[in-house]
Amino acid sequence: MFENLSERLSGVFDRLTKQGALSEADVESALREVRTALLEADVSLPVVREFVKAVSKKATGQAVTKSITPGQQVVKIVHDELIAMLAGDTDPGVLKIDSPPAPILMVGLQGSGKTTTTAKLARRLKDREGKRVLLASLDTNRPAAMEQLAILGTQIGVDTLPIVKGEDPIAIAKRAKTQASLGGYDVYILDTAGRLHIDAELIAQAAAVRDVVSPRETLLVVDGLTGQDAVNVATEFDAKIGVTGVVLTRMDGDGRGGAALSMRAITGKPIRFIGLGEKTDALEVFDANRIAGRILG
Ligand code: GDP
Repeated sequence: MFENLSERLSGVFDRLTKQGALSEADVESALREVRTALLEADVSLPVVREFVKAVSKKATGQAVTKSITPGQQVVKIVHDELIAMLAGDTDPGVLKIDSPPAPILMVGLQGSGKTTTTAKLARRLKDREGKRVLLASLDTNRPAAMEQLAILGTQIGVDTLPIVKGEDPIAIAKRAKTQASLGGYDVYILDTAGRLHIDAELIAQAAAVRDVVSPRETLLVVDGLTGQDAVNVATEFDAKIGVTGVVLTRMDGDGRGGAALSMRAITGKPIRFIGLGEKTDALEVFDANRIAGRILG
């Protein structure tokens, strides 16, 4: 995901660390290259500006330029600022599912990986936390999507709410809520309908479902390959339905990584998980340290 960015930055920092003494001008010129590299990775401009300003403020002081290893100090400052930019103040992998049955609402555009992520999350909760999970698809426009969730449920050994033909999403959500209570489930995850674009109907439906179940978590699934578009989608979903976190999918692909880097700073919402493949075990808790490590090599 971050190969190009990582390569560009390691070039800049190699030169800087080999140089010995550094002037403020050296640092500023390196930061200009960092700025270009981040913009090429599709990180949003205001985020890049803030980032470079923060690094510059810390890296151009006497303490850095006069230190014995000024280049390494600059790299450390960049590393720390990357983490500050990426990380939220809560543990991203810890979901609020303490009072059973806890509803989780999955929202996002069609094709973002929502259904796959719903199954991945269910598998994780079942296997790692021993939770009893119930899945329900509300995508009544696309019977194939409902079937897909049922198939995935069978594969991972997680129950799905039986499909009743002709039922509307609100009725399904209510039935899932009742079934989750009666069946003694810890968590029920609702996979809402997606569309190719955010439209009034999509938002109205997600909001109506939200009002029926009062989700403990509303997770927005966005395609990490779509860069700044992913961030725009997140901003809009959050404004209209309120999300508690983001799952970035296709982080195994060769996207430039801008979505991951801008998401928190622009939307204020933490990335909770990342999708790293099509299989139901390809989900990782978002770890700012690890991402910063990947970027800085
Ligand atoms: P939905 O329309 O949002 O429910 O999207 P789906 O869950 O059906 O996913 C669309 C396609 O993306 C499927 O072929 C998935 O296997 C694939 N997919 C989902 N998540 C990932 C991921 O993290 N990495 C990769 N490489 N493919 C993914």
